[in-house]
Amino acid sequence: MNKVIIFSAPSGSGKTTLVRHCLEVFSELEFSVSCTTRNPRGNEQNGIDYHFISPDEFRQKISENAFVEFEEVYTDKYYGTLKSEVERIWNTGKTVIFDVDVKGGVSLKKYFGDQALSIFIMPPSIEELERRLVSRATDDAETIRTRVEKASDEMTFKDQFDKIVVNNDLDEAKSSVEQLLKNFLSA
Ligand code: 5GP
Repeated sequence: MNKVIIFSAPSGSGKTTLVRHCLEVFSELEFSVSCTTRNPRGNEQNGIDYHFISPDEFRQKISENAFVEFEEVYTDKYYGTLKSEVERIWNTGKTVIFDVDVKGGVSLKKYFGDQALSIFIMPPSIEELERRLVSRATDDAETIRTRVEKASDEMTFKDQFDKIVVNNDLDEAKSSVEQLLKNFLSA
């Protein structure tokens, strides 16, 4: 059976670190590169971290029905999962791993059903999440404020996921997700 693994969390919960860890541990996984209209940050590369596209290109893809799901994650910042990415990865015999926002995660789980394992990564607290976003130093103060506000709302979706992992201690969170993935991939 073709499978997908969905990671969602409020921004700054350590989700991306955990997704990268899974990609290192499980060679049968491949990351689904999303489209976004936001600008690249830091060392991000086009085609590897995201397909960085213009709002016009994004609208074009919506009209072509190219997305499994898409969300306006922040005002005027669109993110979408390409159907072609899922097909490409499945055609290589691999399992798809997604790093998406909470609403996108719920949509993907609905779309893929039993083919999907959806995991919600929870920060220990909103205060800790804010501290992490500040220390990551990749976003300005305004962006961080927006993300922290959004996080409280996003927490309310956690029960719609198959599994919840609290990222209090990173090593513990890594072994929890490893175990969840091992069970799902071998089933
Ligand atoms: P960032 O700008 O920090 O890279 O991502 C912001 C949020 O958008 C993160 O929660 C990330 O997981 C999410 N995201 C990335 N790609 C997609 C996508 O294709 N669909 C949805 N719904 N969210 C995405």
